[in-house]
Parts: sequence; structure tokens; C-alpha cells
Amino acid sequence: MVQKIIIAGAGPAGCYLGSLLASSKADASITILERSRSVLVKDSGMVSEHIFDFFQRASLAGIVGKEISSIALHSTKHTLELERNEPFAFILDRDKFGRKLRKTAEKNGCRLVYENIEDITRTKGSVAVTTNKGQHVCDLIIGADGANSVVRKALVGSQPKLYQGILTNIKSGKRKPGIDIFFNKEITRDFFAWRIFDEYGVLSSDKMAYHRFLEKYRFKPGRVAGSLVPIGLIKSYSDRCLLVGDAAAQVKPVTGGGIVYSLTCAHIAADVLKNAVVAKRYDAHTLSQYENAWRKRIGNEVRLGLLFRKLYDNMSQAGVEHMFRTCGKDLENAMFSAKHFDYDKPSALAKNMFANKPAKLFLNGLLSLVL
Ligand SMILES: Cc1cc2nc3c(=O)[nH]c(=O)nc-3n(C[C@H](O)[C@H](O)[C@H](O)COP(=O)(O)OP(=O)(O)OC[C@H]3O[C@@H](n4cnc5c(N)ncnc54)[C@H](O)[C@@H]3O)c2cc1C
Repeated sequence: MVQKIIIAGAGPAGCYLGSLLASSKADASITILERSRSVLVKDSGMVSEHIFDFFQRASLAGIVGKEISSIALHSTKHTLELERNEPFAFILDRDKFGRKLRKTAEKNGCRLVYENIEDITRTKGSVAVTTNKGQHVCDLIIGADGANSVVRKALVGSQPKLYQGILTNIKSGKRKPGIDIFFNKEITRDFFAWRIFDEYGVLSSDKMAYHRFLEKYRFKPGRVAGSLVPIGLIKSYSDRCLLVGDAAAQVKPVTGGGIVYSLTCAHIAADVLKNAVVAKRYDAHTLSQYENAWRKRIGNEVRLGLLFRKLYDNMSQAGVEHMFRTCGKDLENAMFSAKHFDYDKPSALAKNMFANKPAKLFLNGLLSLVL
């Protein structure tokens, strides 16, 4: 019997996983339930070169825009110029990218249905999904419905820490090239603010951060978009249910970026699910293979990122200034001279930076915490 799979959410995670499942030989019908007809453009679209692990370069022509080979990090008193000779990140046109993902999912055989999921209940043999237009019954549900996932709340129960992200494209004023990241605790105590070409944005657990940012830099905002960023290492499965992408907090805690991690984990989910569909087994034990596999791939990076976040949370602005002053040159040098820099693995850069100076790292870390 054909297995019925429902994917909640047609963002990068849901569409990519749907495409993989629908184009595989799995004997399953895939329905994607999405609440919004227009693509949710709520992020900066900055991704590493790993985007090309999932899509051929030619297929992203006109979608991958600017290439990034330098970033300026600012504290209130210091600036670090992180530069490489070759690009290490790219900016996606998120509207075009989102539309391409939806189109590909449909072309590969997914049914894209525009309905808002309101409730989900699980019985022994199936899952019932209630939307604003009616009810769907399926064998398995995949929560790819973002940071505030309804599926996660109804069937898994784990909860990441949610930060408020706000971004805007400036209407007018001085336009500058390049990228600036601002580490200013008066604006956002527990994350950072940024300018990427014409876009200004801020991430924080405090909703007022954007207003302080606006006040400080006095840019004229255009359309303002707000969305949540989930941070944490959480459970991503239960009986007849998997979570993928932001719903599973598959996000880099250092930067808040999640597009490449979503695609990585969607790929892993597809591999596990192909076998589950053949065996018609969707019990938690079978689906736990998915979590084991994605944690093996990105778990260490997330754990290290969480440690960084905790240290940063506990630092005062004086501690931030101390880190910039004492470790800045090491970071600039490591960034410039590292044989290869992977924007999705900031831990490799940190390792490179302090390979010969563990004592310096320890002392600096300690000092910046007490300052
Ligand atoms: C301000 C900001 C800046 C960011 N910048 C970057 C960046 O530069 N690079 C990067 O890699 N990542 C960035 N991110 C993170 C990135 O946006 C996410 O990691 C990524 O979009 C995750 O994809 P997803 O498919 O899991 O979730 P989403 O893209 O959030 O997609 C979820 C989908 O589910 C739908 N949905 C939600 N609820 C329901 C419901 N009840 N019923 C039906 N449909 C529903 C939504 O409409 C949406 O289409 C940023 C995030 C923010 C907030």
C-alpha cells in the first residue's frame, strides 16, 4: 500500500526533503502543507560553498548573487578585518531560491497544498493533521515548519531557545559595500547586529534590540521582516514524526545560519526514511537513526557553538573588548592563512588559531569572563 507522508512547511528543509523522497523509489505519496503562497523571505541568505553540495552551480545561476571574501567584525572600540583571497560565502536571492525549491519539489512529484496546520494528533496507526481547510490523515508527518514548529509542539515536545531576528533593507542613505558584524552589548547582549550590503539586521533574545540598533546607526528602514532563530541541541523524532531544519534547531549557534544545515539534515532524513518506508516502520526506535546520523555530522559543531554562546552571554562589553584586543590579530592571521576556511565550521578556525597557544586561549577566556 502506498505510504502517505505529510511534510509541514515548504521552506528549504521541507521542499528539499520532499524532492528527495518523491524522486526516490520509495512507495510513498508526499504532500507538503504550506501556509503561505509567497516565499518567506526572512533571512540574509548567506551560505557557505556547501550550497553546491546540494545544487549544481549552473542550476543556481541568477540565484547565487554576491560572493563574500571579507567580513569586518566590530566591537565598540576595535575592528577586525577577516579576509581571504577567495570567496568563502555567497548571498542567495532568497525569493528566487525559495521559488526554485517549491517548483522542484512539485516537478519531482510532491503535492503542494496551501493550508495552515492548526492541530496534530497521533493514534496508534496514523497521524491526523487539522488545517484551516479540513483534515489529512497520514502514516508519517515531517515537521519542517520552522522555528516555532507546530509539529514539534504537538508530537515531540522539545524546545530550543528562540532568538528574535529582525532585518530590513535600507531605503536611502549612504550605501556601503561589504559586510559588518557588530558586537555591542548595549544593542544586543546575547547575539550580534549586522550590515550586509544594503541590509541591516539584529539577533537577540530581547525584542527591543532592533530599536536600539536603529537609534544607534540611524539608517532609514524599508520593509521590516521579523522571524525567530532556534538555538539548541534538541530531540528531533518521536513515533510517526521527524523534525528537520529550524523545527529541529539545526542551526549554527555562532551565526544563526541554518540553510545549509537544513539541507544537510534533510538529506540524512531522506536516507533513513527511504528504508523506513520500505519496512513500513515509523516507530521512534527506527526513526532515532536519523537523529544519531545528523548529530554525528553536525553535533560537535553545534555543541561548540553553544559553548561559545554561553561564554558570550556571560561576558561584559569590557570582556568583548579584551577578546578583540588580545586575540584579534590571531584571528585575522588564521583566517587569512588557513589552507581552507569552511564557513560552516567555525571551530576549525578556532582550532587553527589557538593550535600553538592553548594557554593563551584559556587565560584570555578567563579574563574576558571576569572583566
Ligand atoms: C533574521 C534572520 C537572518 C538569517 N540569516 C541567515 C543566513 O544568512 N544564512 C542562513 O543559512 N540562515 C539564515 N537564517 C536562518 C534561516 O532562515 C533558516 O535556518 C532556514 O530558513 C531554515 O529553513 P526551514 O525550511 O527549516 O524553515 P523555514 O524557512 O522557516 O520554513 C518553514 C516553512 O513552514 C511554513 N509553516 C510554518 N508554520 C506552518 C503551519 N502551521 N502550517 C503550514 N506551514 C507552516 C512557513 O510558512 C515556511 O514556509 C536567518 C534567520 C533569520 C530569522
